[in-house]
Amino acid sequence: MADPSAAAALEDRLHWWWRQLPPGCRLLAVSKGQPTGAIRAAVAAGQRSFGESRLQEATAKQAELADLGPLDWHFIGRLQANKVRGVVRHFATIHSLDSLALARRLARIAAEEERRPAVLFQVKLRPDPGKAGFSAHELRRCWSELQGLPALRPVGLMTIAPLGLEAGQRQELFAECAALAGELALPELSMGMSGDWREAVAAGSTWVRIGSGLFGARLS
Ligand SMILES: *Cc1c(COP(=O)(O)O)cnc(C)c1O
Repeated sequence: MADPSAAAALEDRLHWWWRQLPPGCRLLAVSKGQPTGAIRAAVAAGQRSFGESRLQEATAKQAELADLGPLDWHFIGRLQANKVRGVVRHFATIHSLDSLALARRLARIAAEEERRPAVLFQVKLRPDPGKAGFSAHELRRCWSELQGLPALRPVGLMTIAPLGLEAGQRQELFAECAALAGELALPELSMGMSGDWREAVAAGSTWVRIGSGLFGARLS
């Protein structure tokens, strides 16, 4: 972002977001599809936590931004089995752990890599073709095994509201997710994107994942 007025506008939007969020709810700046210049401008304004969904894109950006020192990178994309090692190496927090098989694989690889990522289990509490996630039932059923996986640090739940719900229905869904996290004693709730963050915050979100509402339209 060589253009100083664009950087100033981004700084203003960041401050706006920080003002909207209650204490205990943090902004995850979703930088997928955004150039590194936009990330630099956000870092200059004080943002440290960024969400990316594609491993290759993220590692290229991390390398380009290495001069900024360590940033707090969160993986929010579909976790593919063959990308787990790369994700473990490049992300300290993973929001999208969506199956027991992947959790086992992630735990094995994290141990090999001598890492202990913070993980949020992705849950799918409404039918949503094409989206992954544990049902509440599945999560409860394998909870003791998930909790016992030594190289993982379970910290929360993540959910994505399906398109087409009304605000009240979204809030109900987010409240269910919050109740499930409470039942499992998980403190973090990754809920809410640019279009539905208000309902997510009302239901107790601790991480809103905001891309277009912060950076504008994605380039890719
Ligand atoms: C892209 C993405 C976001 C951000 O979406 P916006 O609508 O641009 O805020 C949040 N969460 C996940 C999982 C995403 O893939």
